[in-house]
Amino acid sequence: MQLSRVAEQFTESVIREMTRRAKQHPGSINLAQGFPDFPAPAEIKQAAIEAIQQDVNQYAITWGSKNLRDAIVAKVKWYNGMDLNPEKNVTVTCGATEAMISAMKAVVNPGDEVIIFEPFYENYGPDCLLSGATPRYVRLHAPDWEIDRTELEHAFNENTKAVIINTPNNPTGKVYTREELEAIAGLCERYDAIAITDEIYEHILYDGCQHISIASLPGMEDRSITINSISKTFSLTGWRVGWALACDRITAEVKKVHDFLTVGAPAPLQEAAAFALQMPEKYYADLQASYTQMRDNMLSALEPTPFHPFKPFGAYYIMCDCTDFMQEQDLDTAFDFSLYLLDKTGIATVPGSSFYANPKDGHKYTRFCFCKKLETLEAVQERLQYFKVD
Ligand code: PLP
Repeated sequence: MQLSRVAEQFTESVIREMTRRAKQHPGSINLAQGFPDFPAPAEIKQAAIEAIQQDVNQYAITWGSKNLRDAIVAKVKWYNGMDLNPEKNVTVTCGATEAMISAMKAVVNPGDEVIIFEPFYENYGPDCLLSGATPRYVRLHAPDWEIDRTELEHAFNENTKAVIINTPNNPTGKVYTREELEAIAGLCERYDAIAITDEIYEHILYDGCQHISIASLPGMEDRSITINSISKTFSLTGWRVGWALACDRITAEVKKVHDFLTVGAPAPLQEAAAFALQMPEKYYADLQASYTQMRDNMLSALEPTPFHPFKPFGAYYIMCDCTDFMQEQDLDTAFDFSLYLLDKTGIATVPGSSFYANPKDGHKYTRFCFCKKLETLEAVQERLQYFKVD
């Protein structure tokens, strides 16, 4: 029997597969999937407990509880410089993951092209296929993960419906500059395309980098869908609360797709998310300070090894170029390298190949995630001593 031809076109997530492999390996340290091993903020957990006890346990309004939509609108006003209406511009979803597929299904028609920068977060390719779009890839060039403007211009054409941006970026740690976003915005206007922007690492920034939402640039208000969630900013990846922000016309379509996909995100956790979004600004400053320490520790664990790290400016991953070591050890693929590393050290990582349309393009890279307690990062450093180059 022929099952879905679309589903057959993509594979299981390599990131989540590495998590499973890590679990089978005694004493492993999972630096594959991006979730913290430290606790979520106590006051947010308390807000969820209270919401459950107050019996906020039935379906919320499908596009999000009023409290949460109000909190989102207030937060994006001060942080992202966007002026939104909580009734018309917000759809609360089950994480950024559902926001992305709802956004895609709301705007894309079969045959449309969607531009994806690569290396990419691995959901975007399947999101395109599930919504009938043809992905078109534009390379971010190492070591600075730069966009070649000519390549970008060539990717846009009359079939381009959308461009997916992820800033701060997973897996590279790139933070898109205003000039880059302006260039993308200009092309969106020229080709009547929409920017779908995944900003879930917007508060995880280093070395004074600033986050800019493309939707806040002139002319982009009506042609952007801004996606976010509480997963990364509040260390709550398992709660599955996210949102998509867009103009009235686009939101009306996103709401319908979302309703029929999931009905709604967990009601009590929406209330706790509303509480989280009203945390004082100091929360975000402390978050940046603690992530800066984690990044610096992870960099100093990697620097003495033959796995050359690229310094990230945002998000919580480090890409490494492992070419020299792989050649020395006769390891052909990034997956072979990740399995080797897991076997020798118990450290699980993500093979760079899973961030590229053609896996070969990512074979020299491996991604290490560092949203971990300092003691976990110390253990990583100790284990990586095995590879220390004098
Ligand atoms: N977008 C990016 C870029 C991610 O890195 C991740 C998780 O690692 C997600 C989305 C998933 O977000 P959520 O947990 O809100 O669905």
